Amino acid sequence: MSIKEIDKSYVAGTYGRFDVEISHGKGSLVYDTQGKEYIDLSSGIAVNTFGMCDPVFINAVNEQLNKCQHTSNLYYSEPCAKLAQLLCERTGAKKVFFGNSGAEANECAIKVARLWGSENKGEKYYNIITLKNSFHGRTLTTLSATGQDVFHKYFNPLTEGFLYAEANNVESVETLLMENKCCAILMELVQGEGGVMALNPDFVRGVSMLCQKYNILLMIDEVQTGNGRTGNLYAYQGYGIEPDVITTAKGLGGGLPIGACLMFGKTENVLGAGLHGSTFGGNPVSCAAGISVIERIDNTLLNEVKEKSKFVFDELNGAQGIKSVSGLGLMIGIETEADASLVISKCMERGLLPIKAKNKVRLLPPLNIPFDLLKKAVSIIKEVAKECVQ
Ligand SMILES: *Cc1c(COP(=O)(O)O)cnc(C)c1O
Repeated sequence: MSIKEIDKSYVAGTYGRFDVEISHGKGSLVYDTQGKEYIDLSSGIAVNTFGMCDPVFINAVNEQLNKCQHTSNLYYSEPCAKLAQLLCERTGAKKVFFGNSGAEANECAIKVARLWGSENKGEKYYNIITLKNSFHGRTLTTLSATGQDVFHKYFNPLTEGFLYAEANNVESVETLLMENKCCAILMELVQGEGGVMALNPDFVRGVSMLCQKYNILLMIDEVQTGNGRTGNLYAYQGYGIEPDVITTAKGLGGGLPIGACLMFGKTENVLGAGLHGSTFGGNPVSCAAGISVIERIDNTLLNEVKEKSKFVFDELNGAQGIKSVSGLGLMIGIETEADASLVISKCMERGLLPIKAKNKVRLLPPLNIPFDLLKKAVSIIKEVAKECVQ
């Protein structure tokens, strides 16, 4: 049997896979088992921050792997402590909890919000506001936090205590706050799965002010927007707000599984002994990878991300066959006149690997994609978008 057939026989059918079997890669180029070369425009959904088989990443992981692959949280371990320190120094957060995924990072944030709410406001203040069209994960509770009905179908009863406000509508948030007992709002600053929609900065500042007014936590889901993706280390740093909690995952480990919930001043002491945990959380290899990723996301790289972003927006805005371009940094959604799936499959034929978000072609290239590859990719996208409507 071919790998495709074995996969279809034995792997749970939860994914609609593209008809490509990835074998290996180098930097921003990946190869399938037929030897076909692609420019990677999705980095494993914003995970491979520095592309495939990056030497610095490999070295950091190898070194740790040759010392100790796992210890459990019953002991101290350097990579976990050092990554937490680095994240706090770069953000102003006070404490970090490590899990293994974005959903787990958000689960932690939700527990923090409920704990904080019950300690500071009263037991009934367990409601958390999220936004319509958001995405926060696939566990039952993060699914409940996700403001999209399509994800909720079949899984009732959902976790109670989530209320959905309209994105970019401050009044809709305030109405929920007036009518319900709330402890927090959780939102993405660029709704990734929801179609790469950057929130309006006025809305974000408005929500931040409401958090002060109603004494609730401002929690930002930076699972996709974090770790340099939007041109800041974390996207909130470009919005002039001071969150109480941020969550991140995807690009943090550069390809290894890790999630983190960062707690700022108000929430730093909420998680006490025995209140949360994870066997693999803070795994030394994942944390060593995380350190190597975060250390490299400096101003030079962030400026490069911004320049590359500007290039893509400038090239695609107003191009034939392209209706609109949305997003921030190297998290970009392209609304094409032709069906996005058609555009994606034509791009794949021509050696590009973009993905989809709602009705858009989504680009999430490695942050260090060389300019010449990005230029080549963008010119192919333009050609394909045009061809598809002719
Ligand atoms: C991907 C994503 C998640 C879920 O992360 P997993 O690692 O798949 O659990 C949560 N929130 C946002 C914004 C995401 O993009």
